[in-house]
Amino acid sequence: MTAVTDWKPVEGSPLTARQLDMLRRIAAGQSWRQIGDALGITIGGVGSINKQILMKLGAASAAQAVDVAHRRRLITERPGCGDRAAYMRHWRRKEPACWRCLAGNAAAEAERRASKNAA
Ligand SMILES: [Zn+2]
Repeated sequence: MTAVTDWKPVEGSPLTARQLDMLRRIAAGQSWRQIGDALGITIGGVGSINKQILMKLGAASAAQAVDVAHRRRLITERPGCGDRAAYMRHWRRKEPACWRCLAGNAAAEAERRASKNAA
């Protein structure tokens, strides 16, 4: 399993790499004990990260946080996200593109249109 903490979340990401990693594990159905073991932290540590996530997403529970993260397209964000190539990788994985890649792809499209108009 790759450590998620060896990359920095992109600027503007509402969640840190560790918070995002934990939220993905919650979404995957892992228990707090399993998450604690995987991240090498205590149950109390898991609880405090959970609290940070809830605060950042304005959620009342972990289940609601997962729902909010899905709707804001945070869950599928990965290292290297944010451009058209990463956008295509999401589709090859048959998962919705994350917010970064949606923005990156939209910018690429706009640039393409602008250069077409200039020509
Ligand atoms: Zn992405």
